[in-house]
Amino acid sequence: MSRLDQLAAITSVEGEISRFYLTREHAAAVKLISGWMTEAGLDVAVDPAGTLIGRKEGATRAAKTLLLGSHIDTVANAGRFDGCLGVVVAIEAMAELRRLGRSLPYSVEVVAFGGAEASRFPTMLVGARVLAGGAPPGVLDVADSDGVTLRQALTEFGCDPDKISDAARRASDLLGYVEVHIEHGLVLQGEGVSVGVVTMISGESRFGVEVRGMAGHASTLPMKVRRDALSGAAEMLLAIEDVARSTAGLLATVGKFSIKPGSAGVVPEQADFCVDVRSPIDGVRRSGWREIDRRARAIARLRRLTYTVGPKFLFVESTDRNTVI
Ligand SMILES: [Zn+2]
Repeated sequence: MSRLDQLAAITSVEGEISRFYLTREHAAAVKLISGWMTEAGLDVAVDPAGTLIGRKEGATRAAKTLLLGSHIDTVANAGRFDGCLGVVVAIEAMAELRRLGRSLPYSVEVVAFGGAEASRFPTMLVGARVLAGGAPPGVLDVADSDGVTLRQALTEFGCDPDKISDAARRASDLLGYVEVHIEHGLVLQGEGVSVGVVTMISGESRFGVEVRGMAGHASTLPMKVRRDALSGAAEMLLAIEDVARSTAGLLATVGKFSIKPGSAGVVPEQADFCVDVRSPIDGVRRSGWREIDRRARAIARLRRLTYTVGPKFLFVESTDRNTVI
């Protein structure tokens, strides 16, 4: 708990926990956790994606490796347990084994990923995808809101972005990956159960949507000729919610929304929002998005609005291949 408190104090915004990928705060967390890893008898390194790795060799050189860990970057205004719990628990486990003088027949690596969240760059799970050999093409060229590319940020962080594909692990060298993670969903809490086992991870697709109508004066533009982008987008949002509510296993969220010109006396000309669609079953996610897209297009047509879906910027397949060791 004291270590989680120390990590929670590393933030870019006073009074909240905001620690973004490849920032000064991320570097400070890496430094702090490196010290704990060294104390626990682990050999410390940072991979080309900025993932901090603490390794304990197995009894034989040929031994496979078990990965333990989680992420140490955060969303804006995060909770103190998200990500960090999995890293701190793994280090504590290794320290305890050392204290007991126990060695394991396999190697262990505690990994502290960065770039799990899309708080700085418009992409997610960077460290984990690099390690799994699945970094999306072009990922180094994505830029943050200041125009700093991931390539530049990695270089400033002391990593070599050109070596990013070298960080991929071969499945045949690994025993598995185990992550302890705080529950985000309130389900265990509601049931009064203290721990559960994840059997499946939801796949995720995100789409940027732009709805365009026509701006106009709030007092002179008659209601019947209006092409109000915000009213149209609002109807789309309710349709998105309706599709997700009526489809088993589908979750859909609009968590980002903006309008232009955004003035109290002007009919909105443009609405932009991001649709996040998830399901543990890939087929449900794909057909869920198709239905959302179909209904949104129909709403746009009736309201004489232009509806455009930008390039899909995040896409992760679900997995039902998790096994319990
Ligand atoms: Zn997390």
